[in-house]
Amino acid sequence: MSDTADTVVIGAGIIGAATALALAERGQRVVLVEASDIAAGTTGRSFAWVNASTKTTDEAYHRMNAEGLEAYQNWAARFGADVIGHRTVGALEIAAAGDRAAQGTIEAHAAALAGFGYQVELVEGEALAQLAPHAHFPDGARAMYTPMDAVLDAPRCARALVAGFVAAGGTFLKGADALTLLVDDEGRVEGIETSQGEIAATAVLLATGAETGRTLARLTGFDGFATRFPLREVPGIVLNTPPDPAAPELVLCTATAPEIHLLPAANGGLRIGSDDIDAMAAAGDDPANLRRAGAALLQRASAFVPGLDQRHDPADCEIVIGVRPYPADGLTIAGPMPGAEGLYLVATHSGVTLAPVIARHMAEAIISGTVPQPLARYALDRFPGFA
Ligand SMILES: Cc1cc2nc3c(=O)[nH]c(=O)nc-3n(C[C@H](O)[C@H](O)[C@H](O)COP(=O)(O)OP(=O)(O)OC[C@H]3O[C@@H](n4cnc5c(N)ncnc54)[C@H](O)[C@@H]3O)c2cc1C
Repeated sequence: MSDTADTVVIGAGIIGAATALALAERGQRVVLVEASDIAAGTTGRSFAWVNASTKTTDEAYHRMNAEGLEAYQNWAARFGADVIGHRTVGALEIAAAGDRAAQGTIEAHAAALAGFGYQVELVEGEALAQLAPHAHFPDGARAMYTPMDAVLDAPRCARALVAGFVAAGGTFLKGADALTLLVDDEGRVEGIETSQGEIAATAVLLATGAETGRTLARLTGFDGFATRFPLREVPGIVLNTPPDPAAPELVLCTATAPEIHLLPAANGGLRIGSDDIDAMAAAGDDPANLRRAGAALLQRASAFVPGLDQRHDPADCEIVIGVRPYPADGLTIAGPMPGAEGLYLVATHSGVTLAPVIARHMAEAIISGTVPQPLARYALDRFPGFA
């Protein structure tokens, strides 16, 4: 196969799908190539809490995430909330009575978010109970309530975005592995070679998530990218229960250790994760290890959803390990690849929340050849060795 496009997007996770759509809608001829299938990477193994409430330190980064929340509401209105699996449900960050560290944490978070103009309030007693009638809270508990937070069925959303992309005239190549970047003598991008043939293009966007360093190494033949790319791969465990009559109405998370976060999943069950139980992902994905991690997650979540660990056996739950693409400074990498005209990349944690915003900015960057101001601080050249 030999094809011609304005832009080739590599990777049909939520970032690649959203950006391919944004480019096609702006009149570009776009080919989206995916080595496996839509949402086969991290997007299919994400907790997928669409939020800006956990971003309390860096105001600009918080605001970009908050824009993501608004953009999802627009997508929900446009595609249908059910079609993309989006629900604005709100979230509670919970502090037990007498836990002064946790109380201090929710107060500090609420103050920071209020300062950024994010909707937030502290709730307790009857007000707290009414927000989550199915949940159990310790006596005297208080919580930070952020009503605009949402949950997403990320694979479903990615599939809807690719369908929208194809409807807008884009070409989707499933099972097409990007192999080699084609460049001219001056280092300008001319296209890529894939396992399904060559595609000529003046721009290539790498949206390969946690695999970005290795993909760059492979595409360019420079092995150093595999080890030097400033991205940590941080594995995390996500458990999805079967439908449960006491699934919470909104996202619940603890303010301090023992950490647990859970949300109402699209199947009527719960999706559960915990940052410290994530350490068990280091032991790999053999079934016995995942069952142990699953039992720990169910047991910890039972503090808020009594009887959960009695109703569900880990063996009946879906338990997966996802790999977070975590830029070295905890922010986002999005923009042009220094030294290779026409090559662009995005690698980011919170990619579910950020996808619609990053997609819009990246489409503008690729079409205009100029980095839009909101993306400037997320350029790869802020890292040593990439200027
Ligand atoms: C446990 C966990 C919890 C998370 N929780 C949240 C959360 O609550 N909220 C939030 O916003 N974010 C969360 N994230 C982060 C979020 O899921 C990711 O940032 C996001 O999914 C990244 O999407 P992506 O499109 O960049 O990458 P991916 O989804 O990994 O997509 C990359 C795609 O590229 C393809 N690919 C790779 N190499 C090639 C090649 N050579 N040729 C063709 N295709 C290729 C892969 O097959 C894959 O489909 C979480 C992540 C994890 C692991």
